[in-house]
Amino acid sequence: MEIKVPDIGDFTDVPVVAVLVAVGDSVAEEDPLIEIESDKATMEVPSPAAGVVKEIKVAEGDKVSEGSLIMVLEASGGGASEGGIEPPADAAAEAAPAPVAATGTATGAGDVHAEVVVLGSGPGGYTAAFRAADLGKKVVLIEKNPTLGGVCLNVGCIPSKALLHVAKVITEAEEMSSHGVSFAKPEINLDELRAFKDSVVGQLTGGLDGLSKGRKVQIVRGMGTFTGPNMISVAGEDGVTTVSFDQCIIAAGSEPVALPFIPEDERVIDSTGALELKDVPERMLVLGGGIIGLEMACVYDALGSKITVVELMDQIIPGADKDVVKPLMNRIKGRYENIFLKNKVTAVEATDAGMKVTFEDDKGESFSDTFDKVLVAVGRKPNGKLINADQAGVAVDDRGFIAVDKQQRTGQPHIFAIGDVVGQPMLAHKAVHEGKVAAEVAAGHKRFFDAKLIPSVAYTDPEVAWCGLTETEAKAKGIKVEKGVFPWAASGKSLSNGRSEGMTKLIFDPSDDRLLGACIVGTNAGDLISECALAIEMGADAVDLGHTIHPHPTLSETVNFAAEMFEGTITDLMPPKKR
Ligand code: FAD
Repeated sequence: MEIKVPDIGDFTDVPVVAVLVAVGDSVAEEDPLIEIESDKATMEVPSPAAGVVKEIKVAEGDKVSEGSLIMVLEASGGGASEGGIEPPADAAAEAAPAPVAATGTATGAGDVHAEVVVLGSGPGGYTAAFRAADLGKKVVLIEKNPTLGGVCLNVGCIPSKALLHVAKVITEAEEMSSHGVSFAKPEINLDELRAFKDSVVGQLTGGLDGLSKGRKVQIVRGMGTFTGPNMISVAGEDGVTTVSFDQCIIAAGSEPVALPFIPEDERVIDSTGALELKDVPERMLVLGGGIIGLEMACVYDALGSKITVVELMDQIIPGADKDVVKPLMNRIKGRYENIFLKNKVTAVEATDAGMKVTFEDDKGESFSDTFDKVLVAVGRKPNGKLINADQAGVAVDDRGFIAVDKQQRTGQPHIFAIGDVVGQPMLAHKAVHEGKVAAEVAAGHKRFFDAKLIPSVAYTDPEVAWCGLTETEAKAKGIKVEKGVFPWAASGKSLSNGRSEGMTKLIFDPSDDRLLGACIVGTNAGDLISECALAIEMGADAVDLGHTIHPHPTLSETVNFAAEMFEGTITDLMPPKKR
C-alpha cells in the first residue's frame, strides 16, 4: 500500500521534521508515521492501516504537499503488538549491565501479580499508574511512605506553595502601608499555620487514595527492591509481599543531599525539616541560593527570621539569565540580612550559642557567623541506588540516575524509569509527562518524550520563570538570537499591583522570528510562562504573539508587548528599533 500525505489544508511544500518509524516497524492504524511542520502548526501524518513499513520515501528536511508519497506499507489488518515497539538504540540500551534475562512476561508468580507495577507514588509514579490503569492494565503501585504523592505532595511543591501563599499575604499587607493602608503586625500561630499546610497536603494525598480505588490500582505499602527481572520484594509493616510483573515503571524519585562535614544537630535542617515549621528561628542561614533554598528563605523571612543566603556561584538561581534574577536579587537584598555570592561554607560547628558557620570567599578569605538554624538546600540526589536495580539488569550510574531512551525504557525493554530518578531537571511536571509516556508505551502505544521544553519556576517574590532557550545558553552554544524585552515599570497592571520591578524577555530566532525561549520575572511569572511554552511548542513567531489580542490590563499583556518590542511596533514605550 502506498501512503501519501492526506489533505493538510492550504499548505504546500511543508518540511518533514521527523520520521517516526523505520523500515521493518509494525504500525497500527492511526499510528503517526511522520511529523511535518508548517508556519502555523506541527502535524502528524497517521498510518491509514495496520501493517509493516516496507519502504520510506522521505527524510527529515524533505518538503511535502498533499499527495506526496511518503511510505510503502505491507498491510496486515492487525495492530502493533504490545511491547513490540523497538526502543531507539541509545545510551540507555548501551548502559544496560549484567546479562539478566529480560522478559515482558513474569515467569514466577508473586503474592501479587501486576501487568504493570509502578515503584514509587510521587507525581511521576501515580500518574503512570493511573494512566496505565485507564488504558486497561492491571496495575500495582508500591509506596514506602504512609501517604501517596511522593515528595511533591508531601514535602515539596504543595506544602511549600501553601506556606508561600501565607508569606505573600504577610508581605503584601506590610507593603500596603506605603499605599495609605496600615495593618497591625501579624500574630503568627505556628500550630494553626502548620495545620493549614497539613490540611492542603491531606486533601490532595487523600484524593489520590480515592483515585486509586476508583481505578482499581492496588497499593502495596513498603520498601520495594528488585529480586529479579520480573519480581519486586516489598518489605512492609506486615512482612514481605512479593510482586511479580510483566512490565515495571521505576518512579523512585530523589532525596535532599546532605553535606558530610555538617554535624547532625536539630538546628541543621533540610527542606523537609523547614516545611515542618517547628519554630521561627531568629537568624537563619540558607545554604544554597537555588530555587528550593530561596523559596524557603521567602517563607521564613515573611514569618520574621533574619535570613542570610550563601551561594557558591556568582548569582542566585544559577540556571536562569542574570538580568532576569536581578529584580529578585534587588528585592531580597533589601529584606535579608546578607546574601553572600561566590562564597562557600567550609565548616559548621554546633555551639551553645548556635551553629557556628565558617565561610570562605572567592579570594580565599575566611570569616564566621553564628545562626539559630541552618537550612541545607544544596540539591537533591536520585534514589536509583536504593532499589537493587542490578537484580533486574537495570543500569544505575554512580550518582544514582537511571538512563532511559525517548520512550522512558531502561536497557531492559520491559522496565521503564521516570521522574527525578532519570535526571534533571527534577521537577514534578517533567515527572508527570514522563509518567504518561511510560504508561502509554507499556500499554502498546507509540509515544515518545518529544517535548521541546520543560519550564522552570522559582515561586519566590517576585517569581522567576523561564522556558526554552535562555540568552546564557544561546551564548554558550554560539546560537544567534535576538530579544524583545518589556520592563514591567511600563505595565499598568503591575504598577496597579504596587510592583514595578518585573520584566518579560522573549528570545527569537532572527532568521524566521520564531520564539525560542522566554524568561519572566515578576508577580505570577509562573502562571504567565505557560503562554510562551505553548507558543514555542506551536512554532509561533513574534507576529503571532504581537497580533494576539491580550486582555487589558493584565500581566499577560507583557508577553504581547515584549513581542512588539522585538518587532518595533510597541506604542506604550518608545520602540527600540524599526524592523
Ligand atoms: P518523588 O516525588 O520523589 O516520589 C518518589 C516516591 O517513591 C516517594 O513517595 C518515595 O517514598 C517512593 N519510593 C522511593 N523508593 C521506593 C522504594 N524502593 N519502595 C517504595 N517506595 C519508594 N517541583 C515542581 O515542579 N514545582 C515545584 O514547585 C516544586 N517545589 C519543590 C519544593 C521542595 C521543597 C522540594 C523538595 C521539591 C520541589 N519540587 C518541585 C520537585 C518535585 O517535588 C519533584 O521533582 C517531584 O516530586 C519528583 O517526582 P517523582 O515522581 O520523580 O518522585
